[in-house]
Amino acid sequence: MLDLTSDVADLTADLVDIRSESGDEKALADAVESALSPLPHLTVTRDGDAVVARTALGRERRIVIAGHLDTVPIVDNVPSRVDGDRLYGCGTTDMKAGVAVQLKLAALVSEPVHDVTYVFYDNEEVDASRNGLLRLSRNDPASLHGDFAILMEPTDGVIEGGCQGTMRVDVKTTGKRAHSARSWMGENAIHKAGEILDVLRAYTPRQPEVEGLTFREGLNAVSVEGGVAGNVIPDECVVRVNYRYAPDLSPADAEAHLREVFTGFEVAVTDSAAPARPGLDDPSAAAFVTAVGEGRARAKFGWTDVSRFSELGVPAVNYGPGDPMLAHTRDEYAKISQIREAEERMVGWLTGRR
Ligand SMILES: [Zn+2]
Repeated sequence: MLDLTSDVADLTADLVDIRSESGDEKALADAVESALSPLPHLTVTRDGDAVVARTALGRERRIVIAGHLDTVPIVDNVPSRVDGDRLYGCGTTDMKAGVAVQLKLAALVSEPVHDVTYVFYDNEEVDASRNGLLRLSRNDPASLHGDFAILMEPTDGVIEGGCQGTMRVDVKTTGKRAHSARSWMGENAIHKAGEILDVLRAYTPRQPEVEGLTFREGLNAVSVEGGVAGNVIPDECVVRVNYRYAPDLSPADAEAHLREVFTGFEVAVTDSAAPARPGLDDPSAAAFVTAVGEGRARAKFGWTDVSRFSELGVPAVNYGPGDPMLAHTRDEYAKISQIREAEERMVGWLTGRR
C-alpha cells in the first residue's frame, strides 16, 4: 500500500520497489488505484493498467498531468537505494519521480485553482501500438481532454516545449546476383549503398527556431542489411535511416524531404511518430512557464507522448524531475532535492501560491 502522506522521495523509492517493466504494470497500477480511490475530491477510473483520477470542481480550465508507470527492463537496479542526494534504481528518473510528484499533488491539493486530470498509464517504453495513452485516447478520449497538459517525463526540472518527430525509412539499393567467382556477371548492391552513406555524411541537419525554441535535427543510418552468402554478389542492400525532425514539419513534409534527399533510391517509411509544436503561445502554457519554470523553457529533442496530446488538440509540455540522460541506464538515479523542488513548484502553481 502506498502512503501518499510520506515524503515525495520516499514515495518515489516505494514506486521503484514495485517492479513495473512494460507489460507488467498491474501491481503498480493496483497500488496507485487503491491509494487514490479513497480520496473524496477525486473520481478514479481504470482502463487496463492505466489509472485516471479527476477533480470536478467546475473550474474554468482543466489541466492534464500525465506520467507512465512502466520502466525499461531492470538490470540489478531494484530495489532502490539512497546515496546522499541521489535515489538510485530502475525508473527513478524515468519516470517514477514524476509519478510520485503527480501522486503527491493528487493527494495534497484537494482544491486546485484549475480542475486537474491525473493520468497514470502503461506501456510507454515499448512499441507505440501498445501505448496506454494511445489506448485511453481511443477508449475514453474525454478522459484526456483539457486546456493544457503536462507530461512529467524527466527534464532536469526545466520546462521543455513540444517534441521532435521521428521517422524511419528503409533506403534500398538493388543489383544483380552472381557467383562471386564471376562477379562481372553481377551488380553489387552493397557497393551501391556507399552512395547512400555519402548522402548521409554530407547532410547538414537544420536547427530551426519554432515558437522561440531552437530545435536540432538529425539524419542518421541506424543499421545496414545486405548479403546472401560468402560467395554471392548481393542483389539487395537496405540502409535503415532515422530522421529526427523539428515540429515546423509535418510527417508528410518529413517524408517528402527524405524522398528528395534519397532521390534515385527506393525509399519506404517503416515507422513514423508526429512532432508536437511547443504550444507556448497558449495562455495556460505561458502561465505555467512563468509560475513553474521561472519564465524559462527549452526545446524537447526526443519524441514523447506530448505529441499524442497535441494530436488531441491539447497543448502540452514536458516538465519533471530527473536527468533525461540517465534514463534507461544501469546507474539511473534522481536527485532527491530536485524531486522535492518539482513537488513544491507544482503545489505552488496548483494552489495559486506561485
Ligand atoms: Zn519516460
